[in-house]
Amino acid sequence: MPIRVLAPDIAAKIAAGEVVERPASVVKELVENALDAGASSIHVETIDGGRRLIRVLDDGCGIPAAEVELAFARYSTSKLARAEDLECIRTLGFRGEALASIAAVSQVTLITRASDEGIGTLIRLEGGKVVYREGRGHPQGTVVTVENLFYNTPARRKFLRAPSTERRHITELVTRYAMAYPEVRFALIHDGRLTFQTTGRGDLKEVCIQAYGLEVARELLPLKKEQGEPIRVSGLISPPNIHRASRDQLTFFVNRRWVQDRMLAYALEEAYHTLLPSGRHPIAVVELTLDPALVDVNVHPTKREVRFRDSGAVFRAVQRAVRSTLVSEAPIPTMRLRPQGEPHRWEAVRGVEPVSARQLPLAAEPSEAILERRGLPPLRVIGQVSQTYIIAEGPEGMYLIDQHAAHERVLYEQLRDQQRGSGVVAQGLLSPQAVELTAEQKATLEEYSGQLEELGFQLEPFGGRTVLIRALPALLQRSDPAQLLIGILDDLAAEAKPLAGEMEARLMATVCKRAAIKAGQTLSLEEMRELIRQLEQTEMPRTCPHGRPTMIHLSQAQLKREFGRG
Ligand code: ADP
Ligand code: MG
Repeated sequence: MPIRVLAPDIAAKIAAGEVVERPASVVKELVENALDAGASSIHVETIDGGRRLIRVLDDGCGIPAAEVELAFARYSTSKLARAEDLECIRTLGFRGEALASIAAVSQVTLITRASDEGIGTLIRLEGGKVVYREGRGHPQGTVVTVENLFYNTPARRKFLRAPSTERRHITELVTRYAMAYPEVRFALIHDGRLTFQTTGRGDLKEVCIQAYGLEVARELLPLKKEQGEPIRVSGLISPPNIHRASRDQLTFFVNRRWVQDRMLAYALEEAYHTLLPSGRHPIAVVELTLDPALVDVNVHPTKREVRFRDSGAVFRAVQRAVRSTLVSEAPIPTMRLRPQGEPHRWEAVRGVEPVSARQLPLAAEPSEAILERRGLPPLRVIGQVSQTYIIAEGPEGMYLIDQHAAHERVLYEQLRDQQRGSGVVAQGLLSPQAVELTAEQKATLEEYSGQLEELGFQLEPFGGRTVLIRALPALLQRSDPAQLLIGILDDLAAEAKPLAGEMEARLMATVCKRAAIKAGQTLSLEEMRELIRQLEQTEMPRTCPHGRPTMIHLSQAQLKREFGRG
């Protein structure tokens, strides 16, 4: 084929793909426009997860009648005038491509009135072309309605997830912007139901109550303000006793732009070093304020990533603010500063130094004897190390068994066998337990409620974001129901969506991970014996359902060698 310049409408669709990935991207661009327009109140409405309709209504400055068409032209913006302005961005938008991109792949109706004009404008575009325009009375501000997203790009449309997934992404986004702009009143309405709302009173904590529920929000610690720093760090962070299974609840804003930045997350988590159980993550809403000339926001069309002129300084500022808050606001009696070590390292004081299995010299080479055979040799329990590993003796030497991984395996196979048989046995709670979920957890629950029910969970909406747990899988009845459910929902939200066929197994594995005996739990000899007995009965005793080993083996020969006897 000869080389040809693409027809404008094809080029527009390709370019639109960079900005508009899914309904939440449309919401993001429209909300950013409303914020740039100085809105004090923003309503977001969706139908069918945004596929049918997305509407964002604001009371901002509006668009003058003469500029309405221009707003939809590519690279047209009121926010940048000269190339130098790019060096110092103070608005959320600046690329002038959002409205053009959205209009290229949907049917858009915009009604707007600028503050100094008597009459407003209604304009409708389909596939980027204006199909209707009229003068129209309207209060000051703008309403953008986006219908039938990707109606003219079937390939994209096919990749849209279930409405519940798209709703969850939109909820997450609106929640985040509400945190960045507590002085703006937000309302989010999915399919006619109000799911999230803020008062616009300017109090971040109040927004966090809406997002996380009162119990968690009230514990959050305000970051200590450091005077005269060029990089100001403010916001709220969780004390060490509150933690989550994923990093989803780490939120960062740079000059009031929501960014996703691993470096910032790392800096924050470093400051919690050893204060949290391993694999657990804090909740944080952190706002960085610095000279816009020191940040490049023009890295990616979606503006999700930023580049700092001096990322080391940013890293240190975050770490210092978080650590000094944790130290002064949440003194941890069981922690002490290591006298001669690195000055910033915290070390847990425990009765027994944690023994990491990996430190054992032979852990890297799993014993062949074990790998060859499917089952387990008869094992005699000797004791527990670090409340995490069971030491056992077998005919071929010593075994260290990870109690959590082993129990995960046991629960997983038991649950699976029930499901393959006559179905999972549910056990009603003596008194149903109410749990308050975050907006995101609620959205995840809606997405997975069918599958959870099949696994024996009986859950019932209980007004707002509270659900009532009525029953659990009987196998898991020793777990704390609320912790179990919240943990499962957080894990599900954090995981990449599995393929349909894998779904059931993955969900079951997640449930078992949450319900299994934890590392750090003291077990009696009797409990350990029972666990090993149950492990022996599984089909695949040597790995947990996530593929990690349940045990390592030190053979007689290896022991001999290590002690220089052989
Ligand atoms: P950008 O935000 O990068 O400038 P957009 O395509 O999102 O580009 O918007 C183009 C222009 O339309 C904006 O620069 C602004 O002048 C105007 N505009 C868009 N949405 C609104 C709104 N909600 N209120 C007022 N003006 C708006
Ligand atoms: Mg914009």
